[in-house]
Amino acid sequence: MKILVVGANGQIGKHLVGLIQDSGSHTARAMIRKQEQVSHFESVGAETAVVNLEGEIEDIAKAAEGVDAIVFTAGSGPNTGADKTLMIDLDGAVKTIKAAEMAGVKRFVMVSSYDTTRKAIQEAPESFAPYVVAKHYADEWLRGTNLDFTIVHPGLLTNDSGTGKVEIAGEVAMGEVSREDVAQVLFGTLEDNSTIGKEFQVVTGSTSVKEALGNL
Ligand code: NAP
Repeated sequence: MKILVVGANGQIGKHLVGLIQDSGSHTARAMIRKQEQVSHFESVGAETAVVNLEGEIEDIAKAAEGVDAIVFTAGSGPNTGADKTLMIDLDGAVKTIKAAEMAGVKRFVMVSSYDTTRKAIQEAPESFAPYVVAKHYADEWLRGTNLDFTIVHPGLLTNDSGTGKVEIAGEVAMGEVSREDVAQVLFGTLEDNSTIGKEFQVVTGSTSVKEALGNL
């Protein structure tokens, strides 16, 4: 498979591109927003597409041409305000979904957040609520498409080394999960078509990624 990783220069994104390139059986196209980010991805043999998620859908669709799957792992991050949350986490995600449809790419894996239910919006602290709203509606949009989607809801992300062991289910108790392990889960999801049409929460645990995905 050729996989477009949107948000490839992010922490999860870089781990995921590495896993894809190391697999020997798949290749990555890294969607990044700055020219100076290209060299890292070229050094691991990945293709690149320099596209800003605040730009035109057509440019995202062009980046998606000829790929078999898209993983959306971009995000505005904690250091910007609700304006960027709206532009990236909601509009950027929906534009990427529309771009997938335009480019005829069926498989779409979304990195969502731990809980994007309406209850979670209502219970979120005021400063966090716009992020949960953005993720809620991006997930809703994806569920309403005909794409072969999987929605991944990670717990609290850490930079710990991956253990390869996770707990995965529709609902798991809130906990931490390393970005490396999330990348492994995304990679495993792409390789396991039984995850199509499903969504799940993931935290660190005691089951191998492959087995945990297979048990869904
Ligand atoms: P990250 O390191 O902040 O990566 C986000 C990526 O999005 C960055 O590479 C960034 O590009 C890219 N991006 C931002 N604006 C963009 C734009 N306009 N055009 C193109 N790309 C843009 O995030 P992470 O740690 O890998 O996490 C990935 C996602 O997991 C986050 O988006 C978050 O929503 C979600 N999540 C987080 C938590 C948590 O505990 N923090 C829990 C669950 C889910 P640059 O590299 O150029 O800045």
